[in-house]
Amino acid sequence: MTMNPSMATGTVVLLPVWGAGHLMPMLEAGKRLLASSGRALSLTVLVMRPPTEQQASEVEGHIRREEAAGLDVRFHRLPAVEPPTDHVGPVEFISRCVQLHLPHVRAAMSGLACPVAALLLDLFCTEMLDLSRELAVPAYVFFTCNAAALSFFLRLPALHEEVAGEFEEMEGAVDLPGLPPMPPSSLPTPIMDRTKPCCAWYVYHGRCFMDADGIIVNTVAELEQRILSAIADGRCTRGISAPTLYPVGPVISFDPPAKHPHDCVRWLETQPPGSVVLLCFGSGGYFTAPQAHEVARGLERSGHRFLWVLRGPPALGGRHPTDANLAELLPEGFLERTGEKGLVWPTRAPQKEILAHAAVGGFVTHCGWNSILESLWFGVPMAPWPLYAEQHLNAFALVAGMGVAVAMEVDRKRDNFVEAAELERAVKALMGGGEEGRKAREKAGEMKAACRKAVEDGGSSCATLKRLRDAVLRHK
Ligand code: UDP
Repeated sequence: MTMNPSMATGTVVLLPVWGAGHLMPMLEAGKRLLASSGRALSLTVLVMRPPTEQQASEVEGHIRREEAAGLDVRFHRLPAVEPPTDHVGPVEFISRCVQLHLPHVRAAMSGLACPVAALLLDLFCTEMLDLSRELAVPAYVFFTCNAAALSFFLRLPALHEEVAGEFEEMEGAVDLPGLPPMPPSSLPTPIMDRTKPCCAWYVYHGRCFMDADGIIVNTVAELEQRILSAIADGRCTRGISAPTLYPVGPVISFDPPAKHPHDCVRWLETQPPGSVVLLCFGSGGYFTAPQAHEVARGLERSGHRFLWVLRGPPALGGRHPTDANLAELLPEGFLERTGEKGLVWPTRAPQKEILAHAAVGGFVTHCGWNSILESLWFGVPMAPWPLYAEQHLNAFALVAGMGVAVAMEVDRKRDNFVEAAELERAVKALMGGGEEGRKAREKAGEMKAACRKAVEDGGSSCATLKRLRDAVLRHK
């Protein structure tokens, strides 16, 4: 499809990092901004080359689909950089890769034919804030996660000074304004070891957020009102109020409807409404055989119907989960015994389509924020099984803050191990008729309505997006 010549008189430059969980929500938010501007704005996406071939081909796939849609969105591939080889964790790796891109981003922005109206930066690209000042362009951070995680990011620089030893051994609870007191065991994984550079990078980004012209958050005011107010009032930042917040979510990108229903969806068609618990663990979650055995036993004993997306450990030297070898991972006879009630799917599954299906009544999730928003969009209550990144904090916020999930005990000291009996209990609480599950279901239903209303004309996120558009156009 050919693209109409641009009528825009200003372009919004997006600098996302390459993971789909970062790229897609930012692009979707950018497209909403574009739509709300009439044809006054276009989008220019600066694409950093992802570090692995698999990620590079995924990103190219997304770009091709977007280009075919014929919107006023241009993709500008930045020259490749030599990625650091001595990094110790993903946040440091990403942050240092971004740092290396600085001259390429400067050259790309200076060379654009259309004047730059604003720069939208991924939360790990704060290194570019200086560049935005150099070029006299307003810069907004696009925070892909929720307000709870943002409040932690903003609180972290001070916490780093206040706490002497490891965060995990901190006495008492962590005070994140707007949330009930949080146990230190719910802090994000990457900052748990303070001797690692990852923690220092988080502190650095947290400080830099204060220098942005605004922070766009992929959340909904109705979902996290108290936290958003606490951030805006400066209760996370020692009385200094944070840059203007723009909660514009939920920003979810949906694929065009599939020509033929996926096998998982076809299986769901044969199940009663609200009867199936989905287990799915994001792009990075996988299980070894001992853990998979516990899950299998827990599910079988719960007696509930299930759809379990099970991935196996990465191949030697690899970083991504592999397709599960079910014969190696599952207890003998499990599939035969549960065939009537359950489906184990050994590769990536269409999670959004599954959550949209009426047969799904609960979701055991790794608590990636995109997965949580997708679950709420369809009103599905959750049981949190956090694994990595900021997911332990999300799990706490889901249960103690938003009330849309039943609690599940995860042993963080044993690599987030969950015993069969605990999974059985949590699945029964989530799917059975008890009080805990009923409350979570009711709250998830309320949040479904709030999320949908927020993005409609006149809704809170829609109004916020217009406020952002006006701020950008004012500058232009
Ligand atoms: N996803 C999917 N199928 C899978 C696993 C994940 O479609 O088998 C999608 C999921 O719907 C979500 C994204 O991948 O949109 C995962 O993002 P999230 O922020 O939840 O977690 P992350 O992968 O970043 O840890």
